[in-house]
Amino acid sequence: MNTVIHQLKKNNLNNKLYIKREDLYPFSFGGNKARKADLFFKEIKNKNIDSVVTYGSSSSNHCRVVANKCASLNIECYIITPEKFESTHNSNLVKMSKAQVIETDIENVEQTINETLHTLQSTNKNVYFIPGGGHGNLGTHAYVNCFDEIVEYEEKQNIKFDYVFLASGTGTTQAGLVCGTILKDRTDLKVIGISIAREQKRGSSIIKKSIEDYLGKKYNEPIYFFDNYTCGGYGQTNRKIEEKIQEMYLVEGIALDPIYTAKAYYGMEEYLKSNKITEKNILFIHTGGTPIFFDYMEELL
Ligand SMILES: *Cc1c(COP(=O)(O)O)cnc(C)c1O
Repeated sequence: MNTVIHQLKKNNLNNKLYIKREDLYPFSFGGNKARKADLFFKEIKNKNIDSVVTYGSSSSNHCRVVANKCASLNIECYIITPEKFESTHNSNLVKMSKAQVIETDIENVEQTINETLHTLQSTNKNVYFIPGGGHGNLGTHAYVNCFDEIVEYEEKQNIKFDYVFLASGTGTTQAGLVCGTILKDRTDLKVIGISIAREQKRGSSIIKKSIEDYLGKKYNEPIYFFDNYTCGGYGQTNRKIEEKIQEMYLVEGIALDPIYTAKAYYGMEEYLKSNKITEKNILFIHTGGTPIFFDYMEELL
């Protein structure tokens, strides 16, 4: 399913800024989790699955999409969540989708997943496990497909992107885009992940592994994954990020959220500034998360 790419009004250091609207991917408020889920659920339908188990926190876009997909296909959905499943727009949508939420301590997550799978299997359920965030080769493949759309746009518009920026969490989305540059012979295009939580060393080694798993061979090129804008970790934010959200809404009419896309957008601008990048074509991938924008309405006002 193709999502739109358009140019932004804002001009940044004489760079042309474009945005790919994955937030408008047409299911459950869109986002990269919706694109990944399409591939997981294609397999789930083929395998006659009746129960799906996955993992994520109360602000997880992945859990919202998976629970919504399960509801629409009449499949039981089990969400393992660390600590408390706090009330957020995403967690409320999970509840609306009638998923069963299982809370556990963060250190017991893996054990709880295994126990849940085991219990379901022992009652003759046909169970499918989706890794947290839609991590794994299917998730990577979803973003190889997305990269194909980017190349298609370039050809139609007769332009070439020099940089792609995005919010990077598990790194699956970034890994898919990097694999896309390799498969399409476009390694001149730099894919830059702005970490939303993980520190650089761990984050980039996981991306490298995802790329190698997908390509089935070693990958030794540099991975651009920067942890300077995490604000101290997952869900942490600061005034500058909040100001960026307001600015993007007022100038472009686009909703960013403080956990993922606003950090990435802010990080992109800082990166362009500090590396004195000008006169380039820059593509920002809006990876979604619109319900989280509404979680922060009070702070924004
Ligand atoms: C999950 C998520 C990301 C990170 O995607 P990964 O593939 O895990 O790196 C970025 N933005 C949004 C809005 C997300 O929900």
